[in-house]
Amino acid sequence: MDLEAELGAQLAERRAANLYRERRLLASPQGGRVVLDGRQVLAFSSNDYLGLANHPDIVRAFAAAAERFGVGSGASHLVCGHASEHQALEEELAAFCGRDRALLFATGYMANLGAISALVASGDLVLEDRLNHASLLDGGLLSGARFQRYLHNDPAALAERLTMAGRRKLVVTDGVFSMDGDIAELPAIAPLCSARGAWLMVDDAHGFGVLGRRGGGVAEHFGLGQDALPILIGTLGKGFGTAGAFVAGSATLIDYLVQFSRPYIYTTAIPPAVAAATRASLQLVMAESWRRDRLVALVARFRAGAAQLGLEVLPSSTPIQPVLVGSEARCMAIGAALWQRGIHVGTIRPPTVPKNTARLRITFSAAHGDGDVDLLLDALAEAFAACGEESP
Ligand SMILES: *Cc1c(COP(=O)(O)O)cnc(C)c1O
Repeated sequence: MDLEAELGAQLAERRAANLYRERRLLASPQGGRVVLDGRQVLAFSSNDYLGLANHPDIVRAFAAAAERFGVGSGASHLVCGHASEHQALEEELAAFCGRDRALLFATGYMANLGAISALVASGDLVLEDRLNHASLLDGGLLSGARFQRYLHNDPAALAERLTMAGRRKLVVTDGVFSMDGDIAELPAIAPLCSARGAWLMVDDAHGFGVLGRRGGGVAEHFGLGQDALPILIGTLGKGFGTAGAFVAGSATLIDYLVQFSRPYIYTTAIPPAVAAATRASLQLVMAESWRRDRLVALVARFRAGAAQLGLEVLPSSTPIQPVLVGSEARCMAIGAALWQRGIHVGTIRPPTVPKNTARLRITFSAAHGDGDVDLLLDALAEAFAACGEESP
């Protein structure tokens, strides 16, 4: 089979379906305004919710640690790459989350793959919300356990699935759903798991740092300790503004993952300077609650304005505020019209979201001001007007 012809045909098909993905070139730090493809634009597309990715305290902590430790960690944690900065960060994250221990992973994708595939296998059952992040779905498939999805954020549908057979039963959900912005119904899901002897794992990539009075994420938001929510995943590249991820839970859970989680064992540790930067970030997350207050105000302003414009926003109270547009073609056209007006938003299409639910994924950051929201709303009004109604 000819590689060029075979792959080329599939690429052409993707282009024709308006599903072709392209990268824009970033030439600035993250922030409310960024330089993308050579243009200054107002960006509502990053996951740097707290505006920390370019914070001077964090940049300084990174540079100082790089002076001491160099850049590369040189090895996996179990060989000789586990530096004092990693250890200190793990201890601080565990204390912050109210868990016995935390374990650093290189990325959220790997933490999810690493936790699920170590915890369940053939003969076990893994139940996932059907709108879970791709890394959670991939982890479930990789594990070899019997894999079932349940209706989105529906504890009754989950309860029904929990009657299925399986030696170990693992329930996995996003804390804040990445493409919809809604929050998992954990006050119903957690007791259900406890009652049925299932283990609950929550991936709080979009809640950690953002939700909860001190930024402790969904666990703090709902007051769920280690018993109610035994397997907690946090990522550090979003609200925390750095990189990496962690699993937090009991000493037994962490000890087990160190022994049995292949994506933990067989990969190089993140640079110690990244861990040091994250320690500085944690201090800001805890101390500067104004960043979370700012987000709440920006979201309220946006939702009021979007309602006036008659936009189809989803029921979300988080900084993820998707606007439904329907077809892939219309989504791309509106995205392009916004870009013309100096605004960048994510244009999210299948397979990331279900068919016919293409959307603008608008995200807010504490780096935005009220005036930025107003500019966005004006541009949305113009872009929707310019692109007309969807033809049936
Ligand atoms: C972004 C994301 C991840 C992946 O985290 P990375 O650190 O970027 O690999 C995992 N889960 C969810 C829900 C996410 O949105």
